[in-house]
Amino acid sequence: MSNVIQLKKVVKEFDGPAGRVSILKEVSFQAEQGEFVGIVGPSGSGKSTLLNMITGIDRPTAGEVTVLGEGIHHLGENSLAQWRGRHLGIIFQFFQLLPTLTALENVALPAHFCKVGRGRARKERAMNCLELVGMVQHAHKLPGELSGGQQQRVAIARALVNDPPLLVADEPTGNLDSQTSAEVFGLFQRIVAEGKTMVMVTHDRGLAAKLPRVVEVLDGRILTSNGQHPSIWATEPQLAQVR
Ligand code: ADP
Ligand code: MG
Repeated sequence: MSNVIQLKKVVKEFDGPAGRVSILKEVSFQAEQGEFVGIVGPSGSGKSTLLNMITGIDRPTAGEVTVLGEGIHHLGENSLAQWRGRHLGIIFQFFQLLPTLTALENVALPAHFCKVGRGRARKERAMNCLELVGMVQHAHKLPGELSGGQQQRVAIARALVNDPPLLVADEPTGNLDSQTSAEVFGLFQRIVAEGKTMVMVTHDRGLAAKLPRVVEVLDGRILTSNGQHPSIWATEPQLAQVR
């Protein structure tokens, strides 16, 4: 297995009204190809900030971030955006689809941006991704005409359109009912089984219990990264059963 994500002693500080605050405190983390890693932790603990380090959406104050062999903190904004578009699929809690574009157009957007495929081939590529998530029949609808679960499926198709090796999801089921969450999670499992690497922040204990590795973030530090279940949940009988 090859290394996909390597964070070494990553520090992230923000300037707040009360001075500098340290949000990530020398966080080290890695993920190998084909892994499906969960990230859990209380609200405000630094989970999204950690993902933003991996995606390059934000830059570390100190430390090293290597993703797919690229030291991404060395890239300029434009090269970083192109690099991200080709190598990463990002999935958000609130889908972030463009409201005036159809599902198909939303899915094709990253391919346009990164010049992956052209014309008809690009459209076919987007259509194939919609098929993968079971949304072909809704291809020409606007996001506003779709349910939350359907919108998230479209967002997943969009994340897959450039066939990136790494998927990063920030509470992707946070806005879905439990049945739809389970379906979306099933999709992720299939995608990972096909060889992609995935990192997912989640508040859903049931889903986290199904992941082979869960990392707990608490107050800007990683507590668990060795395949054990998070300490805050360790007493839950529900988890004891699963393992
Ligand atoms: P989580 O995703 O675990 O809920 P976040 O990573 O979003 O937590 O945020 C961790 C902490 O960092 C919070 O206290 C938040 O207010 C602070 N924070 C996040 N982004 C910024 C920013 N751009 N400027 C200042 N503070 C921030
Ligand atoms: Mg968050």
